[in-house]
Amino acid sequence: MSKVIVSALYNSDVFKMACRQFDKAADAINLPEAIRDRTKYPRRCLSVALPIKRDDGSVTVFEGYRVQHNLSTGPAKGGIRFHQSVTIGEVAALAMWMSWKCSLVGLPYGGAKGGVIVNPGQLSAGELERLSRRYMQEMINFIGPHIDIPAPDVGTNETIMGWMMDTYSNHVGHNEPAVVTGKPLALGGSQGRREATGAGVAYLIKKYLEDMKIPIQKATVAIQGFGNVGSEAALALSNYGAKIIAISDYTTGIHDPKGIDVRKALDYVNYARVLKDYHLGEPITNEQLLELKCTVLVPAALERVITDKNAGKLKCRLLAEAANGPTTNAADRILDRREEIEIIPDVLCNAGGVVVSYFEWLQNLQNFYWSRDEVLAKLFTILDRAKDSVEFQKRKFKFSRRLAAQTLGIARVAEAKQSRGLFP
Ligand code: GLU
Repeated sequence: MSKVIVSALYNSDVFKMACRQFDKAADAINLPEAIRDRTKYPRRCLSVALPIKRDDGSVTVFEGYRVQHNLSTGPAKGGIRFHQSVTIGEVAALAMWMSWKCSLVGLPYGGAKGGVIVNPGQLSAGELERLSRRYMQEMINFIGPHIDIPAPDVGTNETIMGWMMDTYSNHVGHNEPAVVTGKPLALGGSQGRREATGAGVAYLIKKYLEDMKIPIQKATVAIQGFGNVGSEAALALSNYGAKIIAISDYTTGIHDPKGIDVRKALDYVNYARVLKDYHLGEPITNEQLLELKCTVLVPAALERVITDKNAGKLKCRLLAEAANGPTTNAADRILDRREEIEIIPDVLCNAGGVVVSYFEWLQNLQNFYWSRDEVLAKLFTILDRAKDSVEFQKRKFKFSRRLAAQTLGIARVAEAKQSRGLFP
């Protein structure tokens, strides 16, 4: 019965994809029936209407959501996405993945995600601020430093987190930096948070290439998505000595087999906002980028870009999932048979962001701040440990790496629920 109701609300391809992944993982570890639905379905969600005064004096009402998938392992945690294609089903799937991710890397958090249906590029700075503040205003009774802690995701950034923290703090009447992470340094943001997701992706790529006996200086990398995650991963990988041969955003892609100067491309994007008309390198489409011959392919944009149409055509050795949910289940079945391609699954690959969010929250609660070196050293220790546990699980049960990572994350959430029992 509950299945019918919940699926009707979240019904979408991406939510079904997350549910099928869950079912597969639950079967693989024989998760008891009694705990399955409790672990699988989101606990609660809030949908809000966000009326914003536009610069021309008119009013537009945007729609926003927050889905808290699990609160059994700690306060819920996850980003807020501003994107025109957001749906509540997508937000629910992303919240589920946050649960497995936090649990896999051992953070004392549940999983959540938020979203607003908006193209932030079409708003002025003032409109964006009013929208961000209004979203937080509507969430005040639903979130909090010990309930649910938002952070940036696609289309949001530290400026927006700053506005949200200010709105919340004004409401409660005192400074409350621990209510969101990914804030500007001046408001209690953490050293290293801005680059954390990309740095974690690059670090894991380096580690897996070592396992595969491929020197990183010989590796070529194609990156889809040049936002915070894609660009920081590109910078870190080129610092490790890898050659970035392709990058892209939603406007275009750039291919240069001799190697792209990432810093230069980033300077251009910081100025022009998009890669369009960048003159160095050959233009390519996002679809072509995914099929380029390269050592490492990094999808760092949206979900479901590697499908049954292109999975058979990938020409990489390592697929590093910096985005959440970039590979459909049908594509995954194809990739399972392509043993020449290793995969770093999303819940492991991009966990660096939420790990440093956790550090930021800890620093806020303690009012005691760490250096960037300390942050990154602690981040890499946690990623090493998570990687080792995934590799152990993979070998022990002969699972794919995705199944290994998901079963670890899911089992820990289920165990917490089992141990807590049902209330009342
Ligand atoms: N949005 C990021 C993610 O998908 C970060 C979440 C966070 O830091 O809470 O993992």
